[in-house]
Amino acid sequence: MGARKYASVVILQHIMAIIITDECINCGACEPECPNNAIYEAGLEWTISQGTGVKGSFTMADGRIVDANEKFAPISSEVYFIVPDKCTECTGFHEEPQCAAVCPVDCCVPDPDHVESKEVLLDRKERLHL
Ligand code: SF4
Ligand code: SF4
Repeated sequence: MGARKYASVVILQHIMAIIITDECINCGACEPECPNNAIYEAGLEWTISQGTGVKGSFTMADGRIVDANEKFAPISSEVYFIVPDKCTECTGFHEEPQCAAVCPVDCCVPDPDHVESKEVLLDRKERLHL
């Protein structure tokens, strides 16, 4: 019973992007750990090109094609946030999400609104680091 429950948790952790909850204390520890520069301080605009190898256009998860240098509005003005289109759950770099590993208040958690397969995450990693 216990082992089956644990297995379910592991599977869930490997098919969802990560989101930062409003429990975040804005310590900044996670931001430098992200291999994709997907983490931003509250209130900052973000681009696909920042901290990645992307130049020219980039296809987002919803199919939109955007300019890599296009500036997007902050996702949160209160706490640090993760850009879903830049998060690969650290696939291809680390065994586990690095933001979650360093967060002192455990507020980097799987995002049920962004369920993605390992293949999709790996493809994003390849496209972000050409
Ligand atoms: S899971 Fe990895 S890629 Fe995603 S935001 Fe956290 S550190 Fe970045
Ligand atoms: S490490 Fe955790 S508490 Fe600190 S900024 Fe990142 S998400 Fe917020």
